[in-house]
Amino acid sequence: MAPLIISISGVRGIVGETLGAAEAVVWGQAYGTFLRYLNGDKRPTVCIGRDSRPSGSMLAAGLAAGLMATGCEVVQLGIVTTPGAALMTRFLKADGGVVLTASHNPIEWNGIKFLRHDGIAYPAEQARQIHRHYHDKQFRLEKATNTGKSREESRTHAVHIDTVLQYCDVNLVSSRRFKAVLDSINGAGCFVTANLLSRLGCNVVHINDQPTGLFAHTPEPTAENLADLGAVVKKHKADIGFAQDPDADRLALIDETGRYIGEEYTLALAAKYVFRKKTGKAAANLSTSRMIDDIAASAGGEVIRTPVGEAHVANAMLEHHCIIGGEGNGGVIDPRVVPVRDSLVGISMVLQLMAETNKTVSELVAEIPRYCMIKTKFACPQEKTAAVLDSVMHHYRQAGKDMRIDTRDGIRIDGPRGWVQLRASNTEPIMRIMAEAGEETVAQQLIADIKNIAGV
Ligand code: MG
Repeated sequence: MAPLIISISGVRGIVGETLGAAEAVVWGQAYGTFLRYLNGDKRPTVCIGRDSRPSGSMLAAGLAAGLMATGCEVVQLGIVTTPGAALMTRFLKADGGVVLTASHNPIEWNGIKFLRHDGIAYPAEQARQIHRHYHDKQFRLEKATNTGKSREESRTHAVHIDTVLQYCDVNLVSSRRFKAVLDSINGAGCFVTANLLSRLGCNVVHINDQPTGLFAHTPEPTAENLADLGAVVKKHKADIGFAQDPDADRLALIDETGRYIGEEYTLALAAKYVFRKKTGKAAANLSTSRMIDDIAASAGGEVIRTPVGEAHVANAMLEHHCIIGGEGNGGVIDPRVVPVRDSLVGISMVLQLMAETNKTVSELVAEIPRYCMIKTKFACPQEKTAAVLDSVMHHYRQAGKDMRIDTRDGIRIDGPRGWVQLRASNTEPIMRIMAEAGEETVAQQLIADIKNIAGV
C-alpha cells in the first residue's frame, strides 16, 4: 500500500487506503489549530476549493468539519481550479486556503494543499508546523457555542475570468476570431476556461468538457497523453489546441498543424509576449528551459532562477518585481492576477501574442532558439535519495573546472554544452533527471552519465 505522502508541497494519498474522511478531519483540525495560533484572537476564515475528482466532495466535508471544530469559518468554493481557489482566498481576504487536488496524478489519488492568505503555498517552516499539529494531535478545539460555520461561495469562475481579462486586450483578441480546441480532461478547468475563451471571441471546440473527474486519458499533459487533441486540432483546422491538467494550473499547447509543441513552450511563448512590451526580470525554477533566458536577454531582461516548487518562483517574483514567471511544466504566473500557476493566464497571453504578431503558433515557436530537453525518472525510495545525490556531487566535483554545480535543488550541473539536473520528487518515491543541450546526443549523454553514477 502506498503511504500517505506528506511534503512541504502538501499531502497526497490513495482514497480508501491512506486518504479518507478521517484523515481529512484530522488535517482540518491541524490546519485550524495552526491558523488559530497564527491569527491571535481573530477567528480565521478558510476557503476550500477542490478539483473534479469524485472523492473531493467527501474530503472537503471532512476538512471543513475539522476546521470548524477549531473555530474557523469555512467558505466552500466547490469545484474550482487551483489558481481560482488561490485567487478567491486573496479576493475574500481569507486567512488561508485549501485546495483538494492530486493535480496530474490518476483518479485513485487525491491531495490536500494549504495556501497562505495571498494564495501562495506556505514556506517549509510553516508547512512543517502544520505537519507537527497533524502528528501531535494537540488540537485547539472549541466548545459547543464557539465552533465555526460554513457557507458556499459561487463567484470564483466569474472573479477569475474578470481578473484575467483586466490585463488582456480583449478587443484585439476577439477581432481575430481564433478557433481553439480545449481539452479540460473533465477537470476543474471545464466551465471557467470555456467561458474565458468565449469572452475572448474564440470559436471553441471543447473536448473532455464535463467536470466529472473521470479523466479521459492519463492526466499529465504530455505528448503521449495528448495524441487525440492533436487530431481534433487538425480535423477542425483550429489555430491552436490547449490542454489543461485536472486542477488547471498547467497548460500544454498544440500548434495549428496538430503538433504537440511541449510544455516548455507555454512559459516561453508567454514570456515572449510579455518581453515584447517591456523589459524587466523573469523568474523560473532550475528545471526550466534556457529558452526563457534567451527571450529575456533579447529584451535586455534577466531571469532569476529558484529551486523547484511554485512557491519559490512566486516568492522570487514578488521579491524581484518580476514581470513574468513560472515553470517549464506549463505553469505560467502573472502575480497581478494571482501569484500561482494559472492556465487561464497562459491562454490569454498566448492568444494575445498570436493576435499582436499575426503569426501562427508554429511560426512563433520557430522564432525561439531551439534546445533539446530530455526528462526521465527512476524509482528511488526517499531514504536513499541523499546518498544518490552525494555520489553525483562527488563525481562532478572531481570531474573538472568547467562544470558549475548548483545544489539549491537536488543537483544541477551546468557545462559548456548543456545542463543536467537530478532531484528527488516531493510527492512520489522517484528521482527525476532532466538535461538540456543544443543537440539531442549531448542531452542523452548527460542523462546516461548521471544514471551511470547513480547505478541505475
Ligand atoms: Mg496541477
